[in-house]
Amino acid sequence: MAGRDVDYDRPTLLSCGRCDVRWTALTAAHCANCHETFAGVNTGFDAHRVDSQCVPPDQVGLRLDGGYWIGGGERSPGRILRASTRPGILRQGLVS
Ligand SMILES: [Zn+2]
Ligand SMILES: [Zn+2]
Repeated sequence: MAGRDVDYDRPTLLSCGRCDVRWTALTAAHCANCHETFAGVNTGFDAHRVDSQCVPPDQVGLRLDGGYWIGGGERSPGRILRASTRPGILRQGLVS
């Protein structure tokens, strides 16, 4: 067994692999089709899928907070990060 290098204080950085968005909320849902990120699977994500198609989140009553699309009563779980063009270097910025 190798030494444990995990820093438990650092949030897990999740990524799509096909766009430069990075996020930390484990409960968030990133759409692999339109590459928007939603605070919740059962709220924002489901709301933007109509007839198996993506619709612009602002057309289904969602709003952008910190880069996450949130529904009524939801709170943004944090902020979305965007990777710079150079791998391994992250720049903080709003998606909006
Ligand atoms: Zn979508
Ligand atoms: Zn993506």
